[in-house]
Amino acid sequence: MPKFHLLSLGLDALGDFAVETGEPRYRGRQLREWMFRHLETDFRRMSNLPQKLVESLEEKATVSTLRERSRQDSVDGTRKWALETQDGHVFETVLIPTESRRSLCVSSQIGCAMGCTFCRTATMGFIRNLTLGEILEQVLWVNRFLQDLDGSRVSNVIFMGMGEPLHNLENVALACEALNAENGFGIGKDRITVSTSGIVPKILEWARRAPNFKLAISLNGSNDTLRSSLMPVNRRWNIEALLDAADEYIQITGQKLTFEYILIRNRTCVPEAAVELKRIASQRNCKINLIPLNRGEDPELQAPSEEEIQAFESILRQGDFEVLRRRPRGPDILAACGQLAIPLKKVA
Ligand code: SF4
Repeated sequence: MPKFHLLSLGLDALGDFAVETGEPRYRGRQLREWMFRHLETDFRRMSNLPQKLVESLEEKATVSTLRERSRQDSVDGTRKWALETQDGHVFETVLIPTESRRSLCVSSQIGCAMGCTFCRTATMGFIRNLTLGEILEQVLWVNRFLQDLDGSRVSNVIFMGMGEPLHNLENVALACEALNAENGFGIGKDRITVSTSGIVPKILEWARRAPNFKLAISLNGSNDTLRSSLMPVNRRWNIEALLDAADEYIQITGQKLTFEYILIRNRTCVPEAAVELKRIASQRNCKINLIPLNRGEDPELQAPSEEEIQAFESILRQGDFEVLRRRPRGPDILAACGQLAIPLKKVA
């Protein structure tokens, strides 16, 4: 029988498991401490657990399902891991360190179904959702790495790796809860961000299911023609529908929303688009995150020059909302936004 992922059990379920093996319920709390605080993956090293429980855990459960296929280190300190699942698929997770932060860009799916034209992950198509255990194991994995490196921990988690997180909504919501829980990884709610391509019904579901975490919407186009040419999702839910959902999200959660906007030469990074984007952002409680295009598969899509970006920014800065520009991290190892992809094996 396949082993179940112990990271996917909440405190109550861990307590139930302990009781089923004839142990007191508080063993569940001890197990959680070993996994989330001590980052232990070997049941035999969980020294305060009785032998019988350790044997039962070894027979039925695991905390360690991923195998490192590769790790690449960028000149700017960004690190990218390719991790292999037990069923032989590979996905990526990216650590982005700064002076004060250790941000981890996690994947929620292997591949992605959304088909955004500027994104390398789209070339993989959709393979499968990651399980709750596999999502949390990325954080455990990198925390173990950091512990050996300099004793630090992942401080921020962003669901901007492979996949559309709201297509794996329940696992992502449970993962956010475990990331935040005091007896989980203990990461503040405002340091956990989920990024969606704009699946309207799921944004509303997310607002009710997980209202306390940060949400970012990849807008990327300031009108329907532009956005549909980059993001097929816009043909299903256009900008008007998306902005209605954004407003409802803000109303339900009381949170400020982030709109991500990719800057592409002669496409999205033109003055007319800046004016349209300013109008969109001025009407709601939001901030804009500008992301200059990173090198992808499509030679037609080029990054703008610094002058073009500054001209675009100067129009936006006339608005009464916050505008940030994301500096590319790890482009030399294809770890920056829109660059994650695992080449698929060719079928003979
Ligand atoms: S940008 Fe995000 S939603 Fe779009 S294809 Fe890439 S991973 Fe999927």
